[in-house]
Amino acid sequence: MYEAVIGLEVHAQLKTRSKLFCSCSTAFGQGPNTNICPVCTGMPGALPVVNKRAVEFAIKMALAVGCTVNDHSVFARKNYFYPDLPKGYQISQYESPLAEHGELTIQVGEESRTIGIIRIHMEDDAGKSIHSSLENMSFVDLNRTGVPLIEIVSSPDLRSPDEAVAYLKALRNILIYLGICDGNMEEGNFRCDANVSIRPRGETEFGTRTELKNMNSFRHVHRALSYEIQRQEDLRQDGEAVVQETRLYDDEKGITRTMRGKEEAHDYRYFPDPDLVPLQVSPDDIRQWEEDLPELPLARLQRFSKDYGLPAEQARILTEERDLADYFEAVVAHCDQPKTAAHWMSSEMIRELREMQVSAAECPMPAQHFAALLKLIHEGTISTKIGKQIFPEVFREGRDPEAYVQDKGFVQISDQTELESVVAEVLAENPDEVQAFKGGKKKLVSFFMGQVMKKTKGQANPKLVNELLARQLQNDE
Ligand code: ADP
Ligand code: MG
Ligand code: ZN
Repeated sequence: MYEAVIGLEVHAQLKTRSKLFCSCSTAFGQGPNTNICPVCTGMPGALPVVNKRAVEFAIKMALAVGCTVNDHSVFARKNYFYPDLPKGYQISQYESPLAEHGELTIQVGEESRTIGIIRIHMEDDAGKSIHSSLENMSFVDLNRTGVPLIEIVSSPDLRSPDEAVAYLKALRNILIYLGICDGNMEEGNFRCDANVSIRPRGETEFGTRTELKNMNSFRHVHRALSYEIQRQEDLRQDGEAVVQETRLYDDEKGITRTMRGKEEAHDYRYFPDPDLVPLQVSPDDIRQWEEDLPELPLARLQRFSKDYGLPAEQARILTEERDLADYFEAVVAHCDQPKTAAHWMSSEMIRELREMQVSAAECPMPAQHFAALLKLIHEGTISTKIGKQIFPEVFREGRDPEAYVQDKGFVQISDQTELESVVAEVLAENPDEVQAFKGGKKKLVSFFMGQVMKKTKGQANPKLVNELLARQLQNDE
């Protein structure tokens, strides 16, 4: 009888070479405190200069989700103290953000929903504290300090953990299609805080919300939200109130727990950064970037359905990752069998990738080999069954399928004389079944087929075997 209301705040790290306000490198995994300078460590007198590439990336994302880009926005200081924040403030945008009023359409099961995007603004990242229990000390690495981020704030339009995850996946997918963010939640370059409340179904007012932090995978987001929704429902059922607070997700226990209440909430004392002029973007630049936008996931999905005649679910699976969609188009370019390719990719290939725990980008089998395998089946050189059987090895080892089936002797037996004798053998060995067949049990034809396949190790051409069976069973009559 309750419904959940969820709004997400996503932080995406932009893939620029240098930081947002200085020329330090953003390279990951460098020695601690090697990519730092007076600007990003907040030395007195050092002056920030905005990175134009980062602005371009942020605006491309804004345009991709239909935001209005403000030609004038203001960087503001968000003041708080923390050891990994050497300036004593984060540079963000507050009253005048870069972009507003966008939306993103997501697909959840059969249903399609449009989720509002309130704003997208730019900000710089903080450093990293490393707590070592072994040495009983804490360390600070400032390499990440000043790395460019965008924050994407959704409207409270999401109604379930499934929708929240679908929204996150769609956002991440667009960022990756645009080539502006790696979208890796485990590595923290795509992060999300989730605001959640519940209300009785039919109610129009929102309930009191809590904010959940510390989730670094889609699975965490789903679990944290499910737990939190249940917790709030239990409270309401017991006549207790939900308290507005920030809660931390604990993956080991699968629960959320209080981090800080409203009273301890920060007052950030935002004010415009006096060291930075307002960000002004020329309409020409915006127009150019809009023209440069690549085909986005939703458009690609629709094109895959329409041009290749794929079922909606297959089109969705294939466009969910840009590399997978690119791979599909490369395969089709080599073999012109879009439906078969889509079928094999969304079943066999996805399964192998999952088992290997690699993404499509790391796919071991070149697209032309994939196409070659489909051709071997299409031309009858090997049966579909053999194709499926050899797929895992050919795929994982990136083997040339033609050479592989020759080497292993998997070539389909389409030799009529050879098959005729196998069929004759099978019928001779199974007189009772032959009798029953003639008595009307026509379904036994698949039994005979099975026997032929067994004798030929699955290599018999099934179409030919069917013809031969029909002929020989008739002859016997
Ligand atoms: P804050 O200033 O605390 O960050 P915002 O108004 O910017 O608050 O909202 C932050 C996020 O919280 C947005 O994604 C918004 O959709 C979501 N949100 C706001 N109110 C609620 C609510 N009652 N329940 C769930 N989410 C909410
Ligand atoms: Mg906020
Ligand atoms: Zn620097």
